[in-house]
Amino acid sequence: MLNQRQIVDYELQRRSVLRRYRAGFLSREEVCDAGPYLHRAARYHGEQTEHMCPVCFKSQIVLVAWVYGDELGMASGSARKPAELERMANLFAEFTVYVVEVCHACGWNHLAMSYVLGTGEPGTRAPRSRPRSRKSATQ
Ligand SMILES: [Zn+2]
Repeated sequence: MLNQRQIVDYELQRRSVLRRYRAGFLSREEVCDAGPYLHRAARYHGEQTEHMCPVCFKSQIVLVAWVYGDELGMASGSARKPAELERMANLFAEFTVYVVEVCHACGWNHLAMSYVLGTGEPGTRAPRSRPRSRKSATQ
């Protein structure tokens, strides 16, 4: 299976947002601001879960994985299906996956987790002299 490294769980931040929303400090528009692009990515590349949306309780959460990495070239910043992640993990040395949860019913979305995938071997596709600026843009 996938060899996930440097796993970061955003559950605490997620709970904090939900707590502030339920207490009235955040509006529904602020927490349910998934745009058409995110909805579309979730529809085509997302993974359906059995977890109900924590905001509207009308629809199940979909997880969408976004990939970032210098080695990926044009594919960096795109959404990928789970099967594609597995294939990419054997193709590239290192790339970061950001998993976002989305609700199609109300537009709730939040970063669920991030992790690093790849063979861990020095990349043959990416020249070392290449600037690594894109990485900081994803932080
Ligand atoms: Zn919802």
